[in-house]
Amino acid sequence: MLRVVCASANPHKVAEIADLVRGLVDLVARPIDLQDVAETATTLVGNARLKAMAVCRATNQPALADDTGLEVDALHGEPGVFTARFAGANATDAQNRAKLLRDLRDEKNRTARFRTVALLAWPDGREIVCQGVCEGSIAESELGERGFGYDPVFIPARGDGRTFAQMSAAEKRSFSHRGAAFRELASRLGESPTA
Ligand code: IMP
Repeated sequence: MLRVVCASANPHKVAEIADLVRGLVDLVARPIDLQDVAETATTLVGNARLKAMAVCRATNQPALADDTGLEVDALHGEPGVFTARFAGANATDAQNRAKLLRDLRDEKNRTARFRTVALLAWPDGREIVCQGVCEGSIAESELGERGFGYDPVFIPARGDGRTFAQMSAAEKRSFSHRGAAFRELASRLGESPTA
């Protein structure tokens, strides 16, 4: 089985990714002394590539990275690539959610989507790039205790009205952007990656 270093250090994301690639690749943790990569690209693919390549260079092994953006229609697709920094450079998840609910106060159009890019890169520059989208809407207030990030305010359209934070990990996986991106990656792992 292909041994792949997980580029993420976020324990919530690592747990979701580990569940999604179980049996497909031998996922190992990223070295603990590796510095975080500045996400300076202007696209999700660009940021995923920056994260994966940094780990490839440091370990000389294939690396798997993902990058996610939340696109809110009433905010003209924002925060998008700035989702992690929506409320400021070092914003916490709680601050980002609070700003989103504030910005959408009294807004009727609450449709939104999560978009995830999953990128598997090899040290010689080959890569497989996959994308997953989850359509949904932004709740009026936070609901649920599970998950991370914007989960308490995101209601997937294919669900039953609950937020991601009210769902089990398996339920979220079945609907989610990350689940879709990694299912595509799973189906493409056999193909010859492009350089
Ligand atoms: P990144 O892809 O880890 O850089 O995440 C970008 C932003 O999206 C951060 O604010 C994360 O908390 C948030 N985010 C990423 N994935 C999810 C998810 O599955 N649910 C809710 N928020 C997420």
